[in-house]
Amino acid sequence: MADARLAHVIGAERIGPQARLLSLAMAEGELRFTGGQYIIVNTGIELDGGKLAKRAYSIVSSDAEQTKFQLAVRRIGEGPGSNFMHRIAVGAEVSFSGPWGKFLPETTSGSKLVFATDTGITAALGLLRGRLFREPAADTTVVWFVEADDYFLPTSFARESIKAERVSFETVAAPAVGHPERLACARATVDRVLATQRPDWAYLAGDGALIYPMRDHLADAGVPREHIRLEAFFNNPQRRIPIAGSRLSDG
Ligand SMILES: Cc1cc2nc3c(=O)[nH]c(=O)nc-3n(C[C@H](O)[C@H](O)[C@H](O)COP(=O)(O)OP(=O)(O)OC[C@H]3O[C@@H](n4cnc5c(N)ncnc54)[C@H](O)[C@@H]3O)c2cc1C
Repeated sequence: MADARLAHVIGAERIGPQARLLSLAMAEGELRFTGGQYIIVNTGIELDGGKLAKRAYSIVSSDAEQTKFQLAVRRIGEGPGSNFMHRIAVGAEVSFSGPWGKFLPETTSGSKLVFATDTGITAALGLLRGRLFREPAADTTVVWFVEADDYFLPTSFARESIKAERVSFETVAAPAVGHPERLACARATVDRVLATQRPDWAYLAGDGALIYPMRDHLADAGVPREHIRLEAFFNNPQRRIPIAGSRLSDG
């Protein structure tokens, strides 16, 4: 059982119709995270069956700051976790475990593709704002595959927060989650990138139904499999047993 840690909400901002940016301060010490990692928030909400709703949220702020950090959360229907994160007031205490995850930069060298779908952009932004990505030694192509401009964070927020030399950023209009054309459209997007350059490293975050096939596709195109990192936020084909109270990534 992971140790519970505490932080306080020090700011909350609505940054889109379904998006809330939360600023938190550690109750004590440092978070000690690396850009790309996430925490698991214990909402304290009891689900049917008695388990507590615990949900993963990627740290969207830079790992240069370790006593304060930010999370961006999209409301998902009536979901307990995301609605808790949208309700929680400034001053409230948040109990969490972590940081967790292996969606981490390995090296500054080598060209990189960062492909994020939907809410997966948070893991990508955390990664790109992290120590090892801030001054990339080679080109980094960032693609956000997302349904609409107002789906989550504003595009300008994403673009501005990762602005750097040698980093290109674009959004690509995605068919909705579950749409039959979605995978083909994601593949065509990645093929367009591959037509100009085969990346040395690839970081894929968001919809597991897309990023796992995309990993195979990139590997088939010659990107070393061990150079491909995945962070599935939902539709994770590798989640061994669905745990009612928690959602964990395969890291
Ligand atoms: C490693 C990791 C990091 C994450 N980071 C973030 C983050 O930074 N910001 C954020 O908003 N969410 C993030 N998530 C998703 C988050 O953990 C919850 O799944 C989400 O908030 C929904 O929880 P809920 O309790 O509101 O709804 P639930 O009732 O638990 O969810 C309803 C269903 O929606 C699915 N779902 C979750 N997200 C989406 C989506 N974007 N589109 C379609 N279906 C979805 C869930 O898997 C579930 O099947 C992350 C998930 C993982 C595994």
